[in-house]
Amino acid sequence: MLSRAQEARVRNVLGHHLPGTLPAYCLEHLAVRTQIPLAHLADLAAFVRNLRVNGACQTRYGGICDANGHETTRLLIWGPPTPMATPDLPEPRQGAGGVP
Ligand SMILES: [Zn+2]
Repeated sequence: MLSRAQEARVRNVLGHHLPGTLPAYCLEHLAVRTQIPLAHLADLAAFVRNLRVNGACQTRYGGICDANGHETTRLLIWGPPTPMATPDLPEPRQGAGGVP
C-alpha cells in the first residue's frame, strides 16, 4: 500500500503539468518523481490501475518515457486528457452591472 502522501504526489505529478505538455513516465521514473521506493513498484502499479479506472490517468505499453527520453516496452503512465477538475471558487462579484 502506498501512503496517502505518496498517492498525493502521484496524483500531483500526473495531474499537474505544464500547459500543452503531457509527459509520460514509465513506472520506475514515476516512482523516482514521486519519491516512492522501487521496492513499492507493485503498489504504485496497483494505484495507477486504480487511477486509470477512475479516468485520472492514461496508460499504454511501450513508447517513450519523457523522464529522460528512453524507450520502453513496459507500462507508460501519463495524465488525464484534460486537467483534473479543481473546485471552482465562485468569484466575489463586486457591484452589480455597470462598466467601470
Ligand atoms: Zn522512464
